[in-house]
Amino acid sequence: MATQKMLKFVTLGKETPEKRDASLRTRDFDEIYREFAAQKAAEQASRCSQCGVPYCQSHCPLHNNIPDWLRLTAEGRLQEAYELSQATNTFPEICGRICPQDRLCEGNCVIEQSGHGTVTIGAVEKYLTDTAWEEGWVKPIRPAMERPESVGIIGAGPGGLAAADVLRRAGVQVTVYDRYDRAGGLLTYGIPGFKLEKHIVMQRVTQLQEAGVTFVLNCSVGTDLTFDAIRGQHDAVVIATGVYRSRDIECPGSGARGIVKALDYLTASNRKSFGDEVPAFDSGDLNAMGKRVVVIGGGDTAMDCVRTAIRQGALSVKCLYRRDRANMPGSQREVQNAEEEGVDFVWLTAPRGFTGGTEVEGVIVQKMRLGAPDSSGRQSPEVIEGADYVEPADLVVQALGFEPEEIPALWGVRDLATTRWGTIKADFRSHATNLPGVYAVGDIVRGASLVVWAIRDGREAAEAILTYLAQPAQAAAE
Ligand SMILES: Cc1cc2nc3c(=O)[nH]c(=O)nc-3n(C[C@H](O)[C@H](O)[C@H](O)COP(=O)(O)OP(=O)(O)OC[C@H]3O[C@@H](n4cnc5c(N)ncnc54)[C@H](O)[C@@H]3O)c2cc1C
Ligand code: SF4
Repeated sequence: MATQKMLKFVTLGKETPEKRDASLRTRDFDEIYREFAAQKAAEQASRCSQCGVPYCQSHCPLHNNIPDWLRLTAEGRLQEAYELSQATNTFPEICGRICPQDRLCEGNCVIEQSGHGTVTIGAVEKYLTDTAWEEGWVKPIRPAMERPESVGIIGAGPGGLAAADVLRRAGVQVTVYDRYDRAGGLLTYGIPGFKLEKHIVMQRVTQLQEAGVTFVLNCSVGTDLTFDAIRGQHDAVVIATGVYRSRDIECPGSGARGIVKALDYLTASNRKSFGDEVPAFDSGDLNAMGKRVVVIGGGDTAMDCVRTAIRQGALSVKCLYRRDRANMPGSQREVQNAEEEGVDFVWLTAPRGFTGGTEVEGVIVQKMRLGAPDSSGRQSPEVIEGADYVEPADLVVQALGFEPEEIPALWGVRDLATTRWGTIKADFRSHATNLPGVYAVGDIVRGASLVVWAIRDGREAAEAILTYLAQPAQAAAE
């Protein structure tokens, strides 16, 4: 019976939810994909081949039980499908929207490998959880009993919030500290609304608040409150602070006005979407309207910047990347979306310097070619001498990636062990650091990574903390 409903990939083609037309979607910051209709979600789920060894599941960082919830969706048993999907994922509606599925679950779907086009796993996951919110299947978090222990979580991004969710469900008293005025980390202030609308993040924050999680916002640990004070107040602490030190371009003219950091630019835009007053946006410094914009970088942050600039009404938007399309780190899906929206990619180019005086007027662009592979196996870009040209620009956005801040020095905890890259050293499974009762999760451990990995870390650390809290006090102190 079950198989009759499934294995429809032979007769049914792959369909993603419809995209809004580029000319319409670039006028606002709303998400670009429309919802699956119920019928479409069931049809697409029925394409799953129900493999004995599901590679989609093993390549999902959360090991979601994908084939089973696809089958339940195909059978119209949506609430059961949702229950199964949320059992392993704290924020399925967020992952369904922004996981790079082509590199994770969908990229390893067996029917994709056989040329039939992957099952659209992410879109079904999003559909299920959006439906669950609409239908009231997402229940308030009500712990069966209250526990006296408390945990302090520094950082309200996906890693910290996933840990807060698991701990609160177990009845632990949870306080989340964040230096921003809103929770959500990069989900709120980094990732633009056209990939992830903000009410989706805020409904999860509200759910945690209603469950009794205390949020202490506008509180920068290390400045407003010491790490030791937080440690003294709680039985365990989770560090989930992400990575925020941007890699800057260092070449002649790089200090000019009009050359900005990607995260400053994206945060200003996201704040405007919340209706906040943003002087640096209103003054034009962080607003692309009417400008010739050049974004430097080839990762997902660069993709978010170019598409934001288009929506702000830039005159032109160019993206410079030193390798070619096939070798860029950003998702191909996002490149395609950006191209549809009018972004011009200039592959195999890098900045040599900037023209203009105190205000940037252009980028001196050097052309590159791909040479011999480096130690990572990727071909290294080499400069083609004598081929430089000037690309006129009124706004240059640097999107070259992020490094960790020096937490031990900033927080005065010099005995907190870090790696040679400056990330915090933590056990692979328990996420315990070298300090007793202190755990670390997400980007501050992995370096710039993905939301789904931060969620996994947060969940695992919370489970390890529950075990730690259950130990007799003497053992925990050792
Ligand atoms: C522009 C952009 C786009 C991205 N797009 C995607 C995508 O499409 N898909 C995807 O999977 N991933 C994406 N990522 C990566 C993803 O956002 C991160 O991997 C993820 O958010 C990491 O989660 P986290 O909880 O470790 O840290 P964060 O989300 O960075 O949250 C850390 C929190 O800690 C707080 N904090 C830091 N220091 C302190 C302090 N001293 N005191 C108090 N609070 C502090 C910060 O304010 C922040 O709220 C993107 C990243 C960027 C920058
Ligand atoms: S969490 Fe991400 S990788 Fe896992 S099934 Fe969902 S979209 Fe795929």
